[in-house]
Amino acid sequence: MKTYTIKTFGCQMNHSDSERVAKVLEQSGFSRCEGDQVDLFIVNTCSVRQKSEDKAYGFIVQQKKKYPNALVAVTGCMVRQTGDKSSSSDNLLKYDPIDVVFRIEDTARLPKLLESHFLDHDFSEFSNAFGSGSLENYFHIVPKVENKSQVFVPIMQGCDKFCTYCIVPYTRGRELSRPMEDIVSECEQHVCNGAVEITLLGQNVNSYVDQGKKCFAELLLKIDVLHKQGLSRLRFTSAHPQDFTDDVIEALRTMQTSCPYVHLPVQHGSDRVLRAMNRNYKVEKYEDIIRKIREAIPNVTIATDIIVGFPGETEEDFQELCAFARRMKFDFSYTAIFSPRKHTPAARMEKDFIDQDEKKRRFHVFDNIIKETSWENRESAVGTTLEVLFEKSEKQSDGMYVNSGRSREFFEVFVKSGRPLRGREVMVGISERKGYVLSGDLPESEGIQRAHTSLSNKLKVLTIK
Ligand code: SF4
Repeated sequence: MKTYTIKTFGCQMNHSDSERVAKVLEQSGFSRCEGDQVDLFIVNTCSVRQKSEDKAYGFIVQQKKKYPNALVAVTGCMVRQTGDKSSSSDNLLKYDPIDVVFRIEDTARLPKLLESHFLDHDFSEFSNAFGSGSLENYFHIVPKVENKSQVFVPIMQGCDKFCTYCIVPYTRGRELSRPMEDIVSECEQHVCNGAVEITLLGQNVNSYVDQGKKCFAELLLKIDVLHKQGLSRLRFTSAHPQDFTDDVIEALRTMQTSCPYVHLPVQHGSDRVLRAMNRNYKVEKYEDIIRKIREAIPNVTIATDIIVGFPGETEEDFQELCAFARRMKFDFSYTAIFSPRKHTPAARMEKDFIDQDEKKRRFHVFDNIIKETSWENRESAVGTTLEVLFEKSEKQSDGMYVNSGRSREFFEVFVKSGRPLRGREVMVGISERKGYVLSGDLPESEGIQRAHTSLSNKLKVLTIK
């Protein structure tokens, strides 16, 4: 049997893609291996920043030195940077340590692509098992999920928005949604296998289209029905303010599986900068959406994405951004310092580039505002009880487990316990906040917590000591 390993760089979408690649390989007679005997290295790349690409190249060189006999196959965003399949593939193949290059939607063809490299492996049964290389066939691959209680389901690929700083529309291509029926059926399968939380993935999930009409709210409501089978949480990422319509807010208000957490990237707090970024909305519209969300969903937490130091950002624009963030009282911000991405319009705005030290100064000022509001918001969770779904449990030398997970509000919570809590949804009494992180205890008086069992998918009562 041949062995493989996958290294994934970048966003959740890439991690989800890797689960489909793993499935194709395992059904083609490969087994996963993290040791020295690896025959095939898959590197799933990200090109959101130059740094991400440099990291991937560095990793490939390192692995090729360590395992000179292993085949290196590269996929992900770096494969399609030019938007032209053949030229981008050829460019990567010129790079010595790379042996095979494939677009993620060609995953179904992977056995065929590997055939000539593994002559001692019989691919005859598998080479056409997944069909030809197309996005439709790609979506039909049932992923090999790493964590059965928390799964990620892609609902669309690509982006049509063309923000001036972003490479995604050139790497992932134009928006293409999956049929609603397929998505709901994949979600059903995951819930049957024990999924408690599903996160819908896409570059702009709320531009989701089925049969020619935008219907993200309808999709949410259809999946929400799985609550009866054991689905507890339905999340999604990323959303765009332009398509965050009232019906989506209404769906979030009424759904059983809705979580009081919305991640809505705004990118800036100055209309002038938003225009230069081609974001197609004004600050006022964004504030209006957040006001409606806060009215509809009590205690909702709001996260956003911000770029500081976009070309031409004046001190006045920056002050507008700071005032905006103070007004919004965000619970979290994924803040980035602007860095030009080759092949994007913003990379050509050189004459407006801002000095690196000044960008760093602005970043720190902004980051402190976010810390202030988000830490204050988390502080108000101390003394309350939150429902936490645990993702990791690590055994300590004293025999106890340190468990970490997320509350429905997406707060990160740590708890010590006598047995591992991974995969369970547990009520936790929050006792402390340190930075962005909360810690707490399992209330002794209760001793009994509820959790979903991955076997029967019925609510099961577990005694946790
Ligand atoms: S919406 Fe803008 S930032 Fe998001 S993926 Fe599309 S182009 Fe990039």
